[in-house]
Amino acid sequence: MGAKKSKCSEDSSGEVNFDHFQVLRAIGGGSFGKVCIVKKKDTKEMYAMKYMSKTNIIAKKAGNDVLRELKILTTLDHPFLVRLWFSFQDEEDLFLVMDLLLGGDLRFHLGQQKRFSLESVRLYMAEMVLALHYLKDRNIMHRDVKPSNMLLDDGGHCHLTDFSVAFVVQSKRLPKSIAGTRPYMAPEMVGQDEHSKGYCYAVDWWSLGVCLFELLRGKRPFCLLSTMDDTEMAATITTSPIKFPTEFDLDAKDLVLKLLESDPTLRREHVKDIHSHSFFKSLDWNQVEQLKVQPSFVPCRNEVHCDPYLEFEELLVESKPLHKKKQRLKKMPSRSSSVTKLEPAPNPDCRVFRRSASHQPKVMYLFMLIHGC
Ligand code: ADP
Ligand code: MG
Repeated sequence: MGAKKSKCSEDSSGEVNFDHFQVLRAIGGGSFGKVCIVKKKDTKEMYAMKYMSKTNIIAKKAGNDVLRELKILTTLDHPFLVRLWFSFQDEEDLFLVMDLLLGGDLRFHLGQQKRFSLESVRLYMAEMVLALHYLKDRNIMHRDVKPSNMLLDDGGHCHLTDFSVAFVVQSKRLPKSIAGTRPYMAPEMVGQDEHSKGYCYAVDWWSLGVCLFELLRGKRPFCLLSTMDDTEMAATITTSPIKFPTEFDLDAKDLVLKLLESDPTLRREHVKDIHSHSFFKSLDWNQVEQLKVQPSFVPCRNEVHCDPYLEFEELLVESKPLHKKKQRLKKMPSRSSSVTKLEPAPNPDCRVFRRSASHQPKVMYLFMLIHGC
């Protein structure tokens, strides 16, 4: 994974930009664009490039979220979190160039009717436990833990991605906004009233509990209707009994119940010693952390583990496909004049993030100043 990446080459201005990459194919659909496999032309190394249309970001008033995602990604360095290597922008898009995880996301595999073995799920959960503890130590709530944000690498290890709604707790100010994906949201987030003091990291553990159940059972633990409002949803997830089939592993069941504890204070207590929970008793945590536990499911290397429609859409439906960007930008009368709302920061150092070869993010620059969104 990341450790093999070599130092990037730059253009004369010392920057990495879109021209340094060859776009190979789309592998993921993002909220503001897509995720593509790209090859860095000089080193031939492969990455995932997430591009986000500035027009879409501005239209959805999501500039601050994107900026926050970028800032958080530049600070992360953990084996089970996707790593950012470069970031830059052009007239149309913002680009995040990350580790390429070719094994597909867990939502894709669930959709393929894949049933994960208990051993596979145990390892995914252990890897996510380590990732969430790392985030908590850095005061970060992910707020969107779910199978489509859990990606397998080609060896079968699981990595958490997508920090688009993550939150950094500063001076103990807790968030109150509803963020993330409804079926994975904790009751203290959806069921807040006007006296709420906000919610805490425990929301991520709730989401992980929903994932644990779903990966083993193939469906989620609660039946939520799209017509339900927040109060109804909070009532449903706190009061409906979870139906476990008889063959459901008892240790896994106990862990699901501890993670889906509706009182966040109690849930936090359960999580404190999650490492010693009986569900994980067969695992050596040091081995897990060093990626030395062999995953029982290794995605087939000759297949692309994503929806084939994504590539079709990128090539034939997308109005501004990435592979035609060069021609498109050439036709623009003045490249610089087309940047209207998302301006680069005045200091050129603030425009590009580049992870150093040694893995330690030496550069932690602000990507851009966002005006008017
Ligand atoms: P969004 O915020 O729009 O959900 P994500 O960052 O979750 O965007 O990316 C969307 C999808 O793209 C993911 O669900 C996954 O299938 C794919 N994807 C994202 N990052 C990577 C990556 N680093 N390697 C491989 N696939 C990825
Ligand atoms: Mg996502």
